[in-house]
Amino acid sequence: MNDAAINGSCLCGSVTFAVTPPFSAFRYCHCSRCRKASGSAHAANLVLPRTQFEWRTGEASVKRFDLPGSERFSLWTCTHCGGRVPHEMRTTENVLVPAGLLDEDPGIRPRHCNFWDSKAPWYVEPQQMEIFSEYPT
Ligand SMILES: [Zn+2]
Ligand SMILES: [Zn+2]
Repeated sequence: MNDAAINGSCLCGSVTFAVTPPFSAFRYCHCSRCRKASGSAHAANLVLPRTQFEWRTGEASVKRFDLPGSERFSLWTCTHCGGRVPHEMRTTENVLVPAGLLDEDPGIRPRHCNFWDSKAPWYVEPQQMEIFSEYPT
């Protein structure tokens, strides 16, 4: 790894990793599995080759879950905080990095929304919402 590496970590900081750009993809995914796995409206997934990914600390604390009956869906978490961590994709030699785990700006922005037709019925664009810098005043 070199100076261009971007650091990331789980919620509690036990699991840390570094990724080296360029990324292969950066997309939001609205599929039902990503909504379940994230508990949110959509996932924000970065993808890059495994050779550009490195665990830094806590790899032994990673719980690996491959969704039964699914060809490719995996959800790896930190056993301490239960938070999501990156996972090796089963169908390609890539790693999927939930973008919210990054502690630095990856330098690229999402370009695609996948599974738009599967989005939650309650999803609305942020531009349609009242925006607060922190909690509502
Ligand atoms: Zn953790
Ligand atoms: Zn998805």
